[in-house]
Amino acid sequence: MKKLVLILVGLSLSFMLNAQDYKNKITLVIHGGAGTITRKNMTPEKEKGYRAALTQALEAGYAVLKKGGTSLDAVEAAIHVMEDSPLFNAGKGAVFTHEGKNELDASIMDGKTGMAGAIAGVTNIKNPITAARKVMEKSEHVMLIGKGAEEFAQKQGVELVEPAYFYTEARWNALQEAIKEERVELDHSARDTTGAVVDDEIFVEGKKYGTVGCVALDQYGNLAAGTSTGGMTNKRYGRVGDAPIIGAGTYASNETCAVSATGHGEYFIRSVVGYDISALMEYKGYNVQKAANEVVMKKLVDRKGEGGVIALDRKGNVAMPFNSEGMYRGFIKADGVSEVKIYKD
Ligand code: ASP
Repeated sequence: MKKLVLILVGLSLSFMLNAQDYKNKITLVIHGGAGTITRKNMTPEKEKGYRAALTQALEAGYAVLKKGGTSLDAVEAAIHVMEDSPLFNAGKGAVFTHEGKNELDASIMDGKTGMAGAIAGVTNIKNPITAARKVMEKSEHVMLIGKGAEEFAQKQGVELVEPAYFYTEARWNALQEAIKEERVELDHSARDTTGAVVDDEIFVEGKKYGTVGCVALDQYGNLAAGTSTGGMTNKRYGRVGDAPIIGAGTYASNETCAVSATGHGEYFIRSVVGYDISALMEYKGYNVQKAANEVVMKKLVDRKGEGGVIALDRKGNVAMPFNSEGMYRGFIKADGVSEVKIYKD
Protein backbone atom coordinates (compact mmCIF):
# COMPACT_ATOMS: atom_id res chain seq x y z
CA MET A 1 0.00 0.00 0.00
CA LYS A 2 2.76 2.39 1.01
CA LYS A 3 4.58 1.50 -2.19
CA LEU A 4 1.49 2.27 -4.28
CA VAL A 5 1.07 5.68 -2.65
CA LEU A 6 4.72 6.44 -3.28
CA ILE A 7 4.39 5.44 -6.92
CA LEU A 8 1.25 7.59 -7.31
CA VAL A 9 2.93 10.59 -5.69
CA GLY A 10 5.95 10.07 -7.89
CA LEU A 11 3.80 9.85 -10.99
CA SER A 12 1.80 12.98 -10.25
CA LEU A 13 4.98 14.85 -9.37
CA SER A 14 6.56 13.92 -12.66
CA PHE A 15 3.32 14.91 -14.45
CA MET A 16 3.40 18.30 -12.73
CA LEU A 17 7.03 18.73 -13.64
CA ASN A 18 6.25 17.82 -17.22
CA ALA A 19 3.38 20.30 -17.35
CA GLN A 20 5.69 22.95 -15.90
CA ASP A 21 8.30 22.01 -18.50
CA TYR A 22 5.92 22.66 -21.35
CA LYS A 23 4.70 25.89 -19.80
CA ASN A 24 8.23 27.18 -20.26
CA LYS A 25 8.31 26.00 -23.81
CA ILE A 26 5.19 27.51 -25.39
CA THR A 27 6.16 28.67 -28.87
CA LEU A 28 4.40 30.08 -31.91
CA VAL A 29 5.88 30.40 -35.41
CA ILE A 30 4.28 32.05 -38.45
CA HIS A 31 4.97 32.66 -42.13
CA GLY A 32 3.34 35.06 -44.55
CA GLY A 33 4.71 33.60 -47.77
CA ALA A 34 8.06 33.11 -49.51
CA GLY A 35 9.50 34.19 -52.85
CA THR A 36 11.33 37.04 -54.55
CA ILE A 37 11.20 39.31 -51.55
CA THR A 38 14.23 41.59 -51.68
CA ARG A 39 15.11 44.96 -50.20
CA LYS A 40 15.20 46.26 -53.77
CA ASN A 41 11.49 45.50 -54.22
CA MET A 42 10.48 46.84 -50.85
CA THR A 43 9.53 50.36 -49.82
CA PRO A 44 9.99 51.40 -46.17
CA GLU A 45 6.20 51.81 -45.78
CA LYS A 46 5.52 48.37 -47.24
CA GLU A 47 8.12 46.75 -44.98
CA LYS A 48 6.66 48.52 -41.97
CA GLY A 49 3.19 47.29 -42.88
CA TYR A 50 4.35 43.68 -43.20
CA ARG A 51 6.30 43.81 -39.95
CA ALA A 52 3.30 45.26 -38.11
CA ALA A 53 0.92 42.62 -39.49
CA LEU A 54 3.31 39.77 -38.68
CA THR A 55 3.84 41.10 -35.15
CA GLN A 56 0.10 41.41 -34.66
CA ALA A 57 -0.40 37.79 -35.77
CA LEU A 58 2.36 36.56 -33.45
CA GLU A 59 0.90 38.45 -30.51
CA ALA A 60 -2.65 37.20 -31.17
CA GLY A 61 -1.49 33.59 -31.23
CA TYR A 62 0.84 33.97 -28.29
CA ALA A 63 -1.87 35.56 -26.12
CA VAL A 64 -3.91 32.39 -26.57
CA LEU A 65 -1.00 30.15 -25.54
CA LYS A 66 -0.08 32.36 -22.62
CA LYS A 67 -3.51 32.14 -21.04
CA GLY A 68 -3.55 28.36 -21.31
CA GLY A 69 -5.25 27.98 -24.68
CA THR A 70 -4.47 25.06 -26.98
CA SER A 71 -2.08 25.10 -29.90
CA LEU A 72 -5.07 24.68 -32.25
CA ASP A 73 -6.70 27.82 -30.82
CA ALA A 74 -3.44 29.71 -31.16
CA VAL A 75 -2.90 28.62 -34.77
CA GLU A 76 -6.42 29.69 -35.65
CA ALA A 77 -6.06 33.07 -33.92
CA ALA A 78 -2.73 33.92 -35.59
CA ILE A 79 -3.97 32.88 -39.03
CA HIS A 80 -7.16 34.97 -38.60
CA VAL A 81 -5.03 38.10 -38.31
CA MET A 82 -3.21 37.32 -41.55
CA GLU A 83 -6.40 36.24 -43.35
CA ASP A 84 -8.01 39.55 -42.38
CA SER A 85 -5.00 41.57 -43.58
CA PRO A 86 -5.03 42.60 -47.28
CA LEU A 87 -1.24 42.18 -47.37
CA PHE A 88 -1.28 38.40 -47.58
CA ASN A 89 -2.62 36.00 -50.17
CA ALA A 90 -5.19 34.45 -47.82
CA GLY A 91 -8.72 35.56 -46.95
CA LYS A 92 -9.02 39.31 -47.69
CA GLY A 93 -6.33 40.09 -50.26
CA ALA A 94 -6.35 36.64 -51.89
CA VAL A 95 -5.28 36.45 -55.54
CA PHE A 96 -7.80 36.15 -58.39
CA THR A 97 -8.55 33.18 -60.61
CA HIS A 98 -8.68 33.52 -64.39
CA GLU A 99 -12.44 34.08 -64.09
CA GLY A 100 -11.93 36.94 -61.63
CA LYS A 101 -12.92 35.03 -58.50
CA ASN A 102 -11.12 34.35 -55.23
CA GLU A 103 -10.94 30.63 -54.47
CA LEU A 104 -9.55 29.88 -51.06
CA ASP A 105 -7.86 26.79 -49.59
CA ALA A 106 -6.92 26.01 -45.98
CA SER A 107 -6.04 23.15 -43.66
CA ILE A 108 -5.29 22.46 -40.01
CA MET A 109 -3.87 19.47 -38.12
CA ASP A 110 -3.81 18.45 -34.47
CA GLY A 111 -0.48 16.89 -33.46
CA LYS A 112 -1.98 15.25 -30.39
CA THR A 113 -4.77 13.27 -32.05
CA GLY A 114 -3.55 13.14 -35.66
CA MET A 115 -6.91 14.55 -36.74
CA ALA A 116 -7.01 17.01 -39.65
CA GLY A 117 -9.42 19.17 -41.62
CA ALA A 118 -9.21 21.00 -44.96
CA ILE A 119 -11.29 22.99 -47.43
CA ALA A 120 -10.51 23.96 -51.01
CA GLY A 121 -11.97 26.25 -53.68
CA VAL A 122 -14.35 28.18 -51.41
CA THR A 123 -15.50 31.67 -52.34
CA ASN A 124 -17.52 33.10 -49.46
CA ILE A 125 -15.90 31.96 -46.19
CA LYS A 126 -14.29 34.90 -44.37
CA ASN A 127 -11.76 32.82 -42.45
CA PRO A 128 -11.08 29.57 -44.28
CA ILE A 129 -8.90 28.24 -41.43
CA THR A 130 -11.97 28.19 -39.16
CA ALA A 131 -13.94 26.22 -41.72
CA ALA A 132 -11.04 23.74 -42.00
CA ARG A 133 -11.11 23.30 -38.23
CA LYS A 134 -14.85 22.65 -38.34
CA VAL A 135 -14.26 19.92 -40.92
CA MET A 136 -11.77 18.34 -38.52
CA GLU A 137 -13.94 18.62 -35.44
CA LYS A 138 -17.51 18.43 -36.70
CA SER A 139 -17.40 16.08 -39.66
CA GLU A 140 -16.15 12.58 -40.27
CA HIS A 141 -14.14 13.78 -43.27
CA VAL A 142 -10.77 15.40 -43.83
CA MET A 143 -11.32 17.54 -46.92
CA LEU A 144 -14.38 19.30 -48.36
CA ILE A 145 -14.37 21.37 -51.55
CA GLY A 146 -16.38 24.07 -53.34
CA LYS A 147 -20.12 24.40 -52.84
CA GLY A 148 -20.28 21.45 -50.45
CA ALA A 149 -17.64 22.97 -48.20
CA GLU A 150 -19.51 26.30 -48.23
CA GLU A 151 -22.78 24.60 -47.33
CA PHE A 152 -21.10 22.71 -44.49
CA ALA A 153 -19.46 25.89 -43.18
CA GLN A 154 -22.77 27.73 -43.22
CA LYS A 155 -24.43 24.93 -41.25
CA GLN A 156 -21.60 25.15 -38.71
CA GLY A 157 -22.21 28.85 -38.22
CA VAL A 158 -18.91 29.92 -39.81
CA GLU A 159 -18.94 33.59 -40.87
CA LEU A 160 -19.76 34.01 -44.56
CA VAL A 161 -19.16 37.13 -46.67
CA GLU A 162 -20.04 38.37 -50.13
CA PRO A 163 -17.26 37.29 -52.54
CA ALA A 164 -16.57 41.01 -53.16
CA TYR A 165 -15.16 41.18 -49.61
CA PHE A 166 -11.94 39.53 -50.82
CA TYR A 167 -11.32 42.13 -53.54
CA THR A 168 -8.18 44.28 -53.42
CA GLU A 169 -7.15 46.56 -56.24
CA ALA A 170 -3.55 45.34 -56.34
CA ARG A 171 -4.55 41.71 -56.80
CA TRP A 172 -7.15 42.68 -59.42
CA ASN A 173 -4.56 44.64 -61.39
CA ALA A 174 -2.15 41.72 -61.10
CA LEU A 175 -4.78 39.46 -62.69
CA GLN A 176 -5.36 41.89 -65.58
CA GLU A 177 -1.61 41.95 -66.24
CA ALA A 178 -1.33 38.18 -66.02
CA ILE A 179 -4.24 37.71 -68.45
CA LYS A 180 -2.74 40.24 -70.87
CA GLU A 181 0.56 38.42 -70.79
CA GLU A 182 -1.10 35.02 -70.83
CA ARG A 183 0.86 34.15 -67.73
CA VAL A 184 -0.21 32.01 -64.84
CA GLU A 185 1.45 33.56 -61.82
CA LEU A 186 2.14 32.27 -58.42
CA ASP A 187 0.87 35.12 -56.29
CA HIS A 188 2.00 38.73 -56.64
CA SER A 189 5.16 38.35 -58.70
CA ALA A 190 7.38 41.36 -58.06
CA ARG A 191 4.63 43.93 -58.33
CA ASP A 192 4.18 47.11 -56.39
CA THR A 193 1.12 47.87 -54.27
CA THR A 194 -0.88 49.02 -57.31
CA GLY A 195 -0.27 45.72 -59.06
CA ALA A 196 2.19 47.16 -61.58
CA VAL A 197 5.30 45.18 -62.45
CA VAL A 198 8.18 46.81 -60.60
CA ASP A 199 11.05 45.05 -62.27
CA ASP A 200 10.57 43.13 -65.44
CA GLU A 201 13.57 40.93 -64.92
CA ILE A 202 12.36 39.93 -61.51
CA PHE A 203 8.82 39.62 -62.81
CA VAL A 204 9.96 37.05 -65.33
CA GLU A 205 12.19 35.17 -62.92
CA GLY A 206 10.63 35.96 -59.65
CA LYS A 207 7.58 34.81 -57.82
CA LYS A 208 6.14 35.48 -54.45
CA TYR A 209 4.00 33.11 -52.54
CA GLY A 210 1.83 34.94 -50.05
CA THR A 211 0.24 31.98 -48.33
CA VAL A 212 0.06 32.24 -44.54
CA GLY A 213 0.76 29.57 -41.96
CA CYS A 214 1.32 28.93 -38.27
CA VAL A 215 2.70 26.17 -36.05
CA ALA A 216 2.38 26.20 -32.27
CA LEU A 217 3.32 24.30 -29.09
CA ASP A 218 1.02 24.76 -26.09
CA GLN A 219 1.63 24.31 -22.37
CA TYR A 220 0.17 20.80 -22.51
CA GLY A 221 2.96 19.76 -24.89
CA ASN A 222 0.71 19.54 -27.95
CA LEU A 223 1.68 20.67 -31.43
CA ALA A 224 -0.64 22.01 -34.17
CA ALA A 225 -0.19 23.36 -37.71
CA GLY A 226 -2.37 25.39 -40.09
CA THR A 227 -2.06 26.96 -43.56
CA SER A 228 -4.37 29.28 -45.57
CA THR A 229 -4.07 30.61 -49.14
CA GLY A 230 -5.70 32.07 -52.24
CA GLY A 231 -3.41 29.92 -54.44
CA MET A 232 -2.08 31.51 -57.62
CA THR A 233 -3.05 34.46 -59.81
CA ASN A 234 -4.87 33.50 -63.00
CA LYS A 235 -5.30 29.89 -61.84
CA ARG A 236 -7.96 27.90 -63.70
CA TYR A 237 -9.84 24.66 -63.81
CA GLY A 238 -10.22 24.42 -60.04
CA ARG A 239 -6.45 24.27 -59.45
CA VAL A 240 -5.59 23.45 -55.84
CA GLY A 241 -2.07 23.78 -54.38
CA ASP A 242 -0.37 22.20 -51.41
CA ALA A 243 -1.84 24.40 -48.65
CA PRO A 244 -4.94 22.26 -48.01
CA ILE A 245 -3.15 18.95 -48.62
CA ILE A 246 -2.36 17.21 -45.34
CA GLY A 247 1.21 15.90 -45.49
CA ALA A 248 2.23 18.43 -48.17
CA GLY A 249 1.50 22.01 -47.03
CA THR A 250 0.44 21.15 -43.49
CA TYR A 251 1.41 18.40 -41.06
CA ALA A 252 1.58 17.91 -37.30
CA SER A 253 2.46 15.04 -34.99
CA ASN A 254 3.41 15.20 -31.32
CA GLU A 255 5.94 12.45 -32.07
CA THR A 256 7.93 14.66 -34.41
CA CYS A 257 6.98 18.21 -35.41
CA ALA A 258 4.42 20.65 -36.83
CA VAL A 259 5.00 22.05 -40.35
CA SER A 260 3.39 24.71 -42.56
CA ALA A 261 4.71 25.40 -46.06
CA THR A 262 4.67 28.17 -48.66
CA GLY A 263 5.94 28.04 -52.20
CA HIS A 264 5.24 26.52 -55.59
CA GLY A 265 2.47 24.17 -54.51
CA GLU A 266 2.83 21.57 -57.25
CA TYR A 267 6.40 20.79 -56.13
CA PHE A 268 5.38 20.68 -52.49
CA ILE A 269 2.61 18.21 -53.23
CA ARG A 270 4.88 15.94 -55.26
CA SER A 271 7.55 16.04 -52.54
CA VAL A 272 5.02 15.50 -49.71
CA VAL A 273 7.01 18.15 -47.87
CA GLY A 274 5.35 18.27 -44.44
CA TYR A 275 5.26 14.53 -43.97
CA ASP A 276 8.74 14.10 -45.40
CA ILE A 277 10.19 16.38 -42.72
CA SER A 278 8.31 14.46 -40.04
CA ALA A 279 9.42 11.11 -41.47
CA LEU A 280 13.10 12.12 -41.42
CA MET A 281 12.71 12.83 -37.71
CA GLU A 282 10.76 9.67 -37.01
CA TYR A 283 12.74 7.17 -39.03
CA LYS A 284 16.18 8.71 -39.24
CA GLY A 285 16.31 10.48 -35.90
CA TYR A 286 17.05 13.89 -37.48
CA ASN A 287 16.38 16.97 -35.39
CA VAL A 288 13.80 19.43 -36.72
CA GLN A 289 16.37 21.82 -38.20
CA LYS A 290 18.25 19.07 -40.04
CA ALA A 291 15.05 17.46 -41.33
CA ALA A 292 13.56 20.75 -42.58
CA ASN A 293 16.87 21.75 -44.21
CA GLU A 294 17.21 18.41 -45.94
CA VAL A 295 13.81 18.76 -47.60
CA VAL A 296 13.78 22.50 -48.38
CA MET A 297 17.44 23.17 -49.15
CA LYS A 298 18.31 19.86 -50.85
CA LYS A 299 15.35 17.87 -52.10
CA LEU A 300 13.23 20.83 -53.22
CA VAL A 301 16.23 22.65 -54.66
CA ASP A 302 17.16 19.57 -56.72
CA ARG A 303 13.60 19.44 -58.00
CA LYS A 304 13.50 23.22 -58.59
CA GLY A 305 10.66 23.68 -56.11
CA GLU A 306 10.83 27.21 -54.75
CA GLY A 307 9.62 28.12 -51.26
CA GLY A 308 10.06 27.43 -47.58
CA VAL A 309 8.57 26.03 -44.39
CA ILE A 310 8.19 26.78 -40.73
CA ALA A 311 8.65 23.78 -38.43
CA LEU A 312 8.53 23.30 -34.68
CA ASP A 313 9.22 20.33 -32.41
CA ARG A 314 7.90 19.45 -28.97
CA LYS A 315 10.92 20.92 -27.25
CA GLY A 316 10.22 24.31 -28.79
CA ASN A 317 12.98 24.11 -31.40
CA VAL A 318 12.18 26.26 -34.43
CA ALA A 319 13.28 25.83 -38.06
CA MET A 320 12.40 28.31 -40.82
CA PRO A 321 14.40 27.33 -43.94
CA PHE A 322 13.56 28.74 -47.40
CA ASN A 323 15.31 28.45 -50.75
CA SER A 324 13.80 31.66 -52.20
CA GLU A 325 15.07 35.23 -51.80
CA GLY A 326 12.98 35.86 -48.73
CA MET A 327 10.15 34.63 -46.55
CA TYR A 328 7.92 36.65 -44.25
CA ARG A 329 8.36 34.85 -40.95
CA GLY A 330 8.60 35.15 -37.20
CA PHE A 331 8.41 33.35 -33.90
CA ILE A 332 7.71 34.08 -30.27
CA LYS A 333 8.72 31.98 -27.24
CA ALA A 334 7.78 31.67 -23.59
CA ASP A 335 10.94 33.45 -22.47
CA GLY A 336 9.77 36.52 -24.37
CA VAL A 337 12.25 36.11 -27.21
CA SER A 338 10.62 37.01 -30.49
CA GLU A 339 11.78 37.73 -34.01
CA VAL A 340 10.21 38.97 -37.25
CA LYS A 341 12.25 38.56 -40.43
CA ILE A 342 11.74 39.08 -44.15
CA TYR A 343 15.02 38.72 -46.00
CA LYS A 344 17.78 36.12 -45.97
CA ASP A 345 19.94 38.09 -43.53
N1 ASP B 1 1.67 27.11 -51.82
C1 ASP B 1 0.65 27.93 -52.39
C2 ASP B 1 0.02 27.28 -53.57
O1 ASP B 1 0.74 26.69 -54.37
C3 ASP B 1 1.17 29.26 -52.83
C4 ASP B 1 1.83 30.05 -51.75
O2 ASP B 1 2.58 29.50 -50.94
O3 ASP B 1 1.61 31.27 -51.73
O4 ASP B 1 -1.17 27.41 -53.74
